[in-house]
Amino acid sequence: MTVGASVTPELADYDEAVASYDPVLGLEVHVELGTLSKMFCGCATAFGAELNTQVCPTCLGLPGSLPVLNQQAVESTIRVGLALGCDIAAWCRFARKNYFYPDMPKNFQISQYDEPLCTDGHLDVDVLTPAGTTTVRVEIERVHMEEDTGKSLHVGGATGRIHGADYSLVDYNRAGIPLIEIVTKPIEGTGRLAPELARAYVTTLREVMRNLDVSDVRMEQGSLRCDANVSLRRSPSDPLGTRSETKNVNSLRSVERAVRHEIRRQAALLDAGGRVVQETRHWHEDTGSTTSGRSKEQAEDYRYFPEPDLVPVAPVADWVERLRSELPAPASVRRRELQARWGMSDPEMQTLVNAGAVDLVGDTVGAGAAVDAARKWWLGELARHANERGTDLSALPITPAQVARLVQLVEDGTLNDQLARQVIEGVLAGEGEPDQVVERRGLAVVSDDAALTAAVDEALAADPEVAEKIRGGKVAAAGAIVGAVMRATRGQADAGRVRELVLERCT
Ligand code: ADP
Ligand code: MG
Ligand code: ZN
Repeated sequence: MTVGASVTPELADYDEAVASYDPVLGLEVHVELGTLSKMFCGCATAFGAELNTQVCPTCLGLPGSLPVLNQQAVESTIRVGLALGCDIAAWCRFARKNYFYPDMPKNFQISQYDEPLCTDGHLDVDVLTPAGTTTVRVEIERVHMEEDTGKSLHVGGATGRIHGADYSLVDYNRAGIPLIEIVTKPIEGTGRLAPELARAYVTTLREVMRNLDVSDVRMEQGSLRCDANVSLRRSPSDPLGTRSETKNVNSLRSVERAVRHEIRRQAALLDAGGRVVQETRHWHEDTGSTTSGRSKEQAEDYRYFPEPDLVPVAPVADWVERLRSELPAPASVRRRELQARWGMSDPEMQTLVNAGAVDLVGDTVGAGAAVDAARKWWLGELARHANERGTDLSALPITPAQVARLVQLVEDGTLNDQLARQVIEGVLAGEGEPDQVVERRGLAVVSDDAALTAAVDEALAADPEVAEKIRGGKVAAAGAIVGAVMRATRGQADAGRVRELVLERCT
């Protein structure tokens, strides 16, 4: 029986899938470099600018325009290559990748093809397992440079894809932004940990980029994008199976979920005697599943040829060696230093890493908060919000400085935890800085004894029976009055102080 790509098969049970099959991964990560200008022209690259305002004849692909290579982009790519232990080519070229798509005005993309700038690197990735942390060495095949395409918006239609859309809009601000693509060799031998490894790899790679300060690596803004290739085979000694390539995976959490989903989907297909079709698939965050995209059964012919408008890239050895000597301490070293300074155990630190919260906590501590408090808010209430929104922590519209301020407000008694949660809600809803939210929502803890005493008296008067019990020495009954006062003050009273006042008024 052959099951076609369009049929949505059942998902196999995950444990059964990884007991029957050996998963192999291939991860392709695109990173937009944080250069001020584009790859081949002087246009600005700022995210979120008004549509089609950061464009010129070159990045619009108008006839007669010529590209000029951005030196900073080459330098950033070399630094990434060096940080990943790659060989840096002494001489390489750009190629034209020919295909038609409306967001690519030249009808070709300038990319590196068979002559990438960096090759043969590796990245050591820590994965937390029930038995402790294991380190997996992921081999990097290449790091190459290319230009980003524009961005299409397909309007109308249910899926947001071009099929079924009424019309499409294109924004060329992104066209020509320097991109690097980091491609792993097939990652074998991870077994049931494949989904966690995929997530940990992207997390670690992001840490490397941030450490080098070459990109802001914001998955939710698309400055880091990951395609996840997954294949299954019966046994590790078998040749590689047919892979699917899942696109649109735009959070760390989705990387893990998408790989897990593909393993289960492919296992069900194979169990039913079907075969996996080589194709791109699209990840859907809402349903947690993938749907079939473009088939890759017949390799597309991109008619690659060397880009005639650009000279070859030939970084001189002195330059490369200077860049090597100027690399910052590796991100992993920095992480271990932080862990020691913060006094965290391996699992505690790994939890922070997996949540993508190391820098957030670091910056919150840098802004004056205690480590424990910073960790508590990022991994607790804020993680809950991120989860609810299906995004990563770094995508939440709250800054480490704001969290640090929140911690301070709790510490100085202006807020209790319950009120602090409401302040977070306000900040996330765009109501301003923590102090503004406190003021606008009227959230500060009421510590004014006169106001509290009045509230206590009111509560005692409203419940004479309980009041009598307390007066008679039943201290435990005070809880009911404290509860009433807390309700009356919408949680804004200091419960400890209220209790003291209740007992005071009843003696
Ligand atoms: P494409 O142009 O199709 O995206 P790439 O070579 O850029 O191909 O990337 C393919 C990725 O998939 C690489 O990371 C590669 O190591 C990995 N890969 C190749 N074959 C397999 C396979 N059978 N199973 C899983 N991953 C694979
Ligand atoms: Mg690719
Ligand atoms: Zn331009």
